Amino acid sequence: MTTPNFKKFNIEAYKPGKSKVNNLKKVIKLSANESALGISPKAKKILSNKKFVLDKYPDGKSQSLRKQISKTYRCNIDKIICGAGSDEVIQMICQLFLNPKDEVVLPEYSFLMYRIYSKVVGAKVIFAKEINFKVSTNEILKKITKKTKIVFIANPNNPTGTYLTKKELIELRKKLNKKILLVIDDAYAEYMKNKDYSSGLDLFRNKENVFVLRTFSKIFGLASLRVGWGYGSKKIINALNVIKPPFNINGVAQLAATESLKDKKFIMKSIKHNFFYANNIKKFLEKYNIYSNPVSANFLLLNFEKCKYSAKFLHKNLKNKGIILRLTEDGYHIKNKLRLTIGSKKENLKFMNAVKQVMK
Ligand SMILES: *Cc1c(COP(=O)(O)O)cnc(C)c1O
Repeated sequence: MTTPNFKKFNIEAYKPGKSKVNNLKKVIKLSANESALGISPKAKKILSNKKFVLDKYPDGKSQSLRKQISKTYRCNIDKIICGAGSDEVIQMICQLFLNPKDEVVLPEYSFLMYRIYSKVVGAKVIFAKEINFKVSTNEILKKITKKTKIVFIANPNNPTGTYLTKKELIELRKKLNKKILLVIDDAYAEYMKNKDYSSGLDLFRNKENVFVLRTFSKIFGLASLRVGWGYGSKKIINALNVIKPPFNINGVAQLAATESLKDKKFIMKSIKHNFFYANNIKKFLEKYNIYSNPVSANFLLLNFEKCKYSAKFLHKNLKNKGIILRLTEDGYHIKNKLRLTIGSKKENLKFMNAVKQVMK
């Protein structure tokens, strides 16, 4: 038998943050930037009490969810599209905008899905240097050519944890050719308490050439249900709706996402929790000469340059104790660093204790 021919892609497949350690039943997973406090009590309640209709197709337009999004974020319902994770919205944007040989400009250490979906549709990915692990708008502008169609920026950026200020973002949009789509991925926007930061949605909700991405996988704690959304001009949203898989968000996910948006108390609690522990853990690690980015989202990029042990050494020893961090060499190609997600109180204390033991 023969396998019919298929296309070959020169793509490094996405490797998710690990969640298992050989022969350990219980692990502490601090490798994928998921919610420290799980899902919101409001969403939990509806998931356990509601009788779901599972034998009928879900609402393909995610009408109630989009309505709640537009209410919570004071934005236009007709400019919202939902996806099975923001992942799927990234994929649809690439399908809609990119022809083979078009160019996409990305900061060198950006979220991996931008390069993967760009390459799937045959576009060329151009990387712009970062300076001290921060996106450089100048370096991005240097890489723009007549073929550039999209610039993707996650703000704050994963895995570096650094961010462009409100001023820098506005300036980037000003200097970028009007015909180039600027995609701003606000995946961690809710966590941000930094005064010089503004979300893409707050800055550009009325711009025709900016597209904003949001997700329910992070602060809202629904990573497994796969819900995200995009916000852009009506023209773009209408075109995306033509190529969108018809029932891309299942009914359970739509309801859970809608409820979690209403749970303001839980979101406030998550933000406070994150700020407290991110600052604490950062200071704690500095005692061992492990330095990290200024606190921003729910993760820290740990730098081992000045530490007596390497990132790999700590990673391995923590793993043996059932605590998993993300090795940034995988996929991102960042050497001697680890990405740490802020966990629950219990997880954070266990993590700090384990570091103490390994370091002595
Ligand atoms: C986690 C993350 C997402 C979320 O992806 P989903 O597909 O919505 O789970 C998007 N962008 C960035 C930069 C992320 O870190």
